[in-house]
Amino acid sequence: MSRGPAPRAAYRRLLAAYGPQGWWPTTRPGAARPSYEPRRARGLSEAERVEICVGAILTQNAAWTNAEKALAGLRRVLPRPDWAGLAALPEGRLAGAVRSSGYFRQKARKLKVLAAAALARGGGTRAWLGAGRVEERRAELLGLWGVGPETADSILLYAGGRPSFVIDAYTRRVGARLGWWRAPSYDEARDWLVARLPRDRELYAEFHALVVRHAKEHCRVRPDCGGCPLRRACAHARRGADAGRAAAGPAPRARRRAVRRRRKSRHHPRS
Ligand code: SF4
Repeated sequence: MSRGPAPRAAYRRLLAAYGPQGWWPTTRPGAARPSYEPRRARGLSEAERVEICVGAILTQNAAWTNAEKALAGLRRVLPRPDWAGLAALPEGRLAGAVRSSGYFRQKARKLKVLAAAALARGGGTRAWLGAGRVEERRAELLGLWGVGPETADSILLYAGGRPSFVIDAYTRRVGARLGWWRAPSYDEARDWLVARLPRDRELYAEFHALVVRHAKEHCRVRPDCGGCPLRRACAHARRGADAGRAAAGPAPRARRRAVRRRRKSRHHPRS
């Protein structure tokens, strides 16, 4: 099914073009808002892991900028969000705090469900998400109300540091244009990519962030293919070039050759 660049080659080209993205943004101690930290060497604190889980819920059907506003709203009522604090916060107050992310009543309930699951496990987010096999933790998260595959994989990959590739609308669009797939289900796209990449959580995290950047910068709804780092191997760009050539007719040299052939054939004894 694949006609585009191999995922590893695409990853290398995107990394060379855009550099490390430092996703997922988290709020450092003393900072007022989340920041991206490319090439971050240190591990995440418990507060940052909780913030990533919360952000993964808040960004559902919402632009990250609105999720970030909702995180700021949450910090106003819970300065250092943790699972116990989220569980103790009245649901209505929580909903009001995360209003800017949209669907805020649902999201407040989802945060409550997630907090209850984390507390039931005990031992902190890292211990919870890091225990057992990745697919077991994924199944557990998927069993929670309001947690779909993209949210579960974001939580596992970015908060838990587990190798669980995240697929989103950007990944589907870029993959379809490159020729990796047509209209795969979430798990089909994830399995397809994972089968072609080394099992490496750093690479998964960076690759996903790079695809998002690429989808915003070049591979938008109306793609801007000029200067695209993946253009040479892109099925969509190739189709566009073929269509352009067909519309323009044969190239000048080919046209001259065809004219010569026609003239010759007119004088050919057997014509
Ligand atoms: S060449 Fe165009 S369609 Fe292909 S990946 Fe780049 S921007 Fe997207």
